[in-house]
Amino acid sequence: MYIKFIFNTIVLVFLSIVSANCQKTNAKPNFILIVADDLGFADLSLNGSKQIATPNIDRLAEEGVNFSQGYVSAPVCSPSRAGLLTGRYGVSFGHDNNIGGNQPGFDPQFLGLPLTETTIATRLHKLGYVTGIIGKWHLGYEPQFHPLKRGFDEFWGYTGGGHDYFVALPDGKGYKAPIECNYKTPQAITYITDDKGDECVDFITRHKKEPFFLFASFNAPHAPMQATEADLELFKNIKNEKRRKYCAMVHRLDINVGRILKTVEKEGLSKNTLIVFISDNGGPVDSNASINAPFNGQKGILLEGGIHVPFIMKWMGKLPAGKTYTNPVISLDFAATFYELAGGKITDDVKLDGVNLIPFILGDNADKPHEAFNWKFTISAAIREGDWKLIRLPDRFPMLYNLANDISEQNDLAFENLDRTKAMLKTLGNWDVHLPHPVFLEGYVWKARQLDLYDRKYPLVQPE
Ligand code: CA
Repeated sequence: MYIKFIFNTIVLVFLSIVSANCQKTNAKPNFILIVADDLGFADLSLNGSKQIATPNIDRLAEEGVNFSQGYVSAPVCSPSRAGLLTGRYGVSFGHDNNIGGNQPGFDPQFLGLPLTETTIATRLHKLGYVTGIIGKWHLGYEPQFHPLKRGFDEFWGYTGGGHDYFVALPDGKGYKAPIECNYKTPQAITYITDDKGDECVDFITRHKKEPFFLFASFNAPHAPMQATEADLELFKNIKNEKRRKYCAMVHRLDINVGRILKTVEKEGLSKNTLIVFISDNGGPVDSNASINAPFNGQKGILLEGGIHVPFIMKWMGKLPAGKTYTNPVISLDFAATFYELAGGKITDDVKLDGVNLIPFILGDNADKPHEAFNWKFTISAAIREGDWKLIRLPDRFPMLYNLANDISEQNDLAFENLDRTKAMLKTLGNWDVHLPHPVFLEGYVWKARQLDLYDRKYPLVQPE
C-alpha cells in the first residue's frame, strides 16, 4: 500500500513536470518587431555592404529566414507604420500620407491612425499579451491617437516622426520633445539608439514570464545625422561626412539589435520568440546618404528603392535557419502572422490585407502568399502582378518593368507591351477608384518633390 502511494506520487510528479514543460513549449509565442527607420537596402553586410558590418542583423538572417522580395505598404514612415500595425493598406482607410508639414484645411482631430482601425497591439492585448512600444510612434499627436490608447500597455518614446539623438528637453518641441514614459520617470537620453536598446532589454527581462509583444521602434538611421565620436572614428576612412555619420548610426543600430538578441537568448526565450527585422521604407538617398542598390529610387517614391526593404524573421526551432524565401511578401503580413500565432482567428470581422506567412515559409502551403500588390502615395500609384510592375504618374506615360530580369528598373517596357500596360493600368485604376478620400493630405512641398525624385539618378551598385 505504502509502496503504491510512493509510486503514484512519483508518477504524479513526473506527469506534472511533463505537463509544465509542454505548457512552456506550447505557450503563446512572444513577438519582437524591430523596425529601422529609413535604412537603405544596400547598407547591411547581409545585402553586400562593404562599408558597414552588421553582424547582428546578419545573424538574424543566418539563424532565420531572409525574404528577398519584402515590401512595405507605403514609401514613407507614417502610412507604412499604419499598415505595419494594422495589417491593412493605409490607403484603404484614408491614411495615405505622412504626418508632419501637412496641407492645411484638414481637421487636426483626424491627423492620425484612424480610430476605425484596430492595431495588432490591441488584438494581442485582448489575447492576453503585454504590449510595449519603445521609440518612435508617428501615428498621431492628439490624445486619441496616443499609443497607450491604441493597444499598448507600455510606452517609452515620442509621438513625432523623428528625434534628436542626443537631446530631449522637458519643454522641447519637435525633434527635441521630451521622452514620454508611463512605467517610470524616463532617464535623460545619452545616445537615443542606446537608450532604446536599454529599454528593450528591460522590457524583455521584466516580461519574460508572460507572452509579450515588443515594438522596438528605432529612429536610426533617420535624420538628423548624429553619431557618437567613438562610432565616427570607426568610419574615418569614409570621406563624405553625411555618409560617415550614416554608417556610424547603422553600426550603433546593429549593436543594439544584438543586445536584444542576446537578452532573448540569456532569458531562455529563443524557442518561444519570433523576431522580425524590417525598415519602414527605403533609404532617402538625398537626406541621409543611404544606398538602396541594386534598387533604383528612394524613400517617397514607388520604384523598388522606396518600398523594397530588408525583411527578416527568426524563430529558433520553428522556422528554418539560413533560408531565403523568394516569393513576394509585404509588411502587412506581420499583423496576420502574429495574430494567428497568438490564437486569433482571421474571419470576415477581422479584415486584413496581410496573411500568416508561417505555412508558406514551412512549405505547408506551396502557393504564393500574394498574387499582386498595389501602392498609392500622393500623386503616384503602382501595381505588381507576378514579375511585372507598373508605375503610374500624372501627365506621363506609365512605366512598366519586368523585375525578374530588371530589378533595378532600368528598362521601361510599357511601349513594347501595350496590352499588358493597358490591362495593369485598368486593374490599378479599378482598385484606386474605390479607395476612400485621404483623411489628411501631404503638404504641397512634399508633393511637388515627387516627380523630381523619379527623375533623379541613384547609385545602383555598392560603394567600395
Ligand atoms: Ca521612415
